Amino acid sequence: MKQEYIYNLTLPELIIFSEKEGYTKGNALALWKNLYRNKVESWAECVNVNEKYLTAIKKQYSLQLPQVKIKRIATDKTVKFLLELSDGNLIESVLMHNKYGMSLCITSQVGCNMGCSFCASGLLGKKRDLMVGEFISQIMVANQYIKKNIASAKVVTNVVIMGIGEPFDNYENFKKAVTILKEENGLAIASRKITVSTSGLSPQIINFANDNININLAISLHAPNDEMRSKIMKVNKVYDIKNLMGAVDYYLERSNKRITFEYILFKNINDNLECARELVKLIGSRTKKISVNLIPYNEVDEFSQYQRSLKETVLKFYDELKKNCINVSIRLEYGSDIEAACGQLRSNQLQ
Ligand code: SF4
Repeated sequence: MKQEYIYNLTLPELIIFSEKEGYTKGNALALWKNLYRNKVESWAECVNVNEKYLTAIKKQYSLQLPQVKIKRIATDKTVKFLLELSDGNLIESVLMHNKYGMSLCITSQVGCNMGCSFCASGLLGKKRDLMVGEFISQIMVANQYIKKNIASAKVVTNVVIMGIGEPFDNYENFKKAVTILKEENGLAIASRKITVSTSGLSPQIINFANDNININLAISLHAPNDEMRSKIMKVNKVYDIKNLMGAVDYYLERSNKRITFEYILFKNINDNLECARELVKLIGSRTKKISVNLIPYNEVDEFSQYQRSLKETVLKFYDELKKNCINVSIRLEYGSDIEAACGQLRSNQLQ
């Protein structure tokens, strides 16, 4: 019998399974704490769990984490993991140390179908969606790394679902994974410390608002008008900026939360003052609800059409937004001396 992945289950699902097998909610809770608080790597390490119950669990479920195939550690201590899933597929996650704690950027799909023209993962296409447990296992791998190499009491405190893939194209699994991340007897990651980033799938932004998932939302904008955005991001040909801003307004009204626009600056393409002014106009009266995160592009050989903007250009762009009362930041760079671009480690390995 093929075993299911234990990390696919939410706590209520584990309780239902346990009760069906004749065990109690308390048994399920004890197991849950072993998984997520004690970070056990094998069933044998579980403590305070009824033995018969554990035997029933072992029959049905596996807790094998993905294998770390490659690990790159940057001089700023950022760690990039290339993980091999049980079917041999490869994904990436990136662990960053910052002033808020330890952040992990995770993958949502094996590859991606969104076809953004600057992205190695888009170039290779999507192979499949990640299962719920494969979202969670990335945090478990990072927590084990932290426990063994940094400090046994430390854990991942912030999660950004911004790695390979479009999370809203794997919406149901993403949604379930978030409930596991937040579950207070387990990982207990606060809502305000979880961020999801979408390339701009408007219908799913509306679902996200309706479902009241209540985590931070970032949208990859990367251009202030349709002509430019459609060249950079294929998704804009389906959901153009007007459509996207309709979904943005729906979300802002419904959720009462802010949105971050991610804006990668490409030299001589979208980094001039005219673009900055267009962006100000696009944000319009939403200045209190939309912030902008400027991201200097990480150059990659495959995409020689894109170069990194000059530092002074980035600062001028920043100043233009700032002077128009837009809450703007320039993304800090992590791990720039390892394969820093999203999907680069995986694509190098596949080649
Ligand atoms: S940037 Fe993100 S959404 Fe676009 S192709 Fe790459 S992984 Fe997909």
